Amino acid sequence: MSEKEFHIVVLEGDGIGPEVTSQAVRLLGQIQNNLNGVRFNFDEYCVGVGEYLKNGTALPDSTFAACEASDAVLLGAMGIPSVRYPDGTEIAPQLDLRERLQLYGGVRPIRLFHAEDTPLKNHGAGDIDFVLVRESTEGLFSGRGATADYEAGLATNMMRITRAGTERVCRLAFELAQKRNGLKKVSLVDKANVLSSMAFMRQIFDEVATEFPDIQADHVYVDASALFMVRDPQRFDVIVTENMFGDILSDLAAGLVGGMGMAPSGDIGATAAVFQPSHGSAPDIAGQGKANPVATILSASMMLEWLGHPETQRGAKMLDAAVASVLAYPKNRTPDMGGKLSTQTMTDLISEALAKSIN
Ligand code: ATP
Repeated sequence: MSEKEFHIVVLEGDGIGPEVTSQAVRLLGQIQNNLNGVRFNFDEYCVGVGEYLKNGTALPDSTFAACEASDAVLLGAMGIPSVRYPDGTEIAPQLDLRERLQLYGGVRPIRLFHAEDTPLKNHGAGDIDFVLVRESTEGLFSGRGATADYEAGLATNMMRITRAGTERVCRLAFELAQKRNGLKKVSLVDKANVLSSMAFMRQIFDEVATEFPDIQADHVYVDASALFMVRDPQRFDVIVTENMFGDILSDLAAGLVGGMGMAPSGDIGATAAVFQPSHGSAPDIAGQGKANPVATILSASMMLEWLGHPETQRGAKMLDAAVASVLAYPKNRTPDMGGKLSTQTMTDLISEALAKSIN
């Protein structure tokens, strides 16, 4: 059988980015050795604050070209609050990457691995297992280039919602609901009672919903969805929402299952995809070996699934199962979750679990 080669661009980025990414790459290497007819070629490229300080650009053309030509991108984290552009905003080349590669669907699975990990544990939390799909190329974030008029005392950022942008992200959400073994429901989170842009989004969502008669279409206002996530997270299966709402709610959702170190993500486009933990560069703990690598490792697993080859998809299942078997023991936690394990030791345990499942 001929070997299928996948070109993976690795962007370690800033802060804890290199610490967590290197651990995920290590596990991918281990998995590759046990897949039939599949090879990963990892190519590292520079990006982020370090690159901006050195060469004046956070996303060099050569890095972008490599991402565009790759089969998938594995990204750590980018941006550090202390280094900013002259207009006061943070260096965030991952946002440029999303827009330029048209990675319209920010897919963020939220899964509780152990009942002890949720702050809702004393409130009968039960299973938490849903996916938040964040529109990632328009919405309120598309107004981020606007400059504030300090003299006039005015700043405006425009919310941009397009038919094409909404249709494609809603379809992605409905297709996900079809694949998942869940409630077979997609909830649109919006603010259609106040903003005409959101009423427009809702109308398009409803149109797309008619293409998926097997999936229930649900509407929840963004403020109510913040409450429901805490009070009744089981009501959700797949959520689809505008860029900024998704940004905020994905942190809340991550908090339900143990924090940012537990929240993977995949930014999915028609021809490209970038996989990265939902968290940022966590400069407060960078370089201390304390970072939780689980979000990045689960993102790597999403990448294996997305690559679409039966063997990479088998690898994704192996990796998910290894993570779940380690997290089944509440003592196996990094400091962000009240444990004592280092980034390296946590990955060692997952690697051992992988090795056991292989033998
Ligand atoms: P961004 O806006 O870039 O998403 P942020 O400002 O929301 O970033 P993070 O960098 O995600 O912030 O960090 C928020 C908090 O979560 C910090 O206290 C950080 O130490 C912690 N944190 C984030 N990721 C991890 C991780 N993988 N392991 C442990 N702690 C983490």
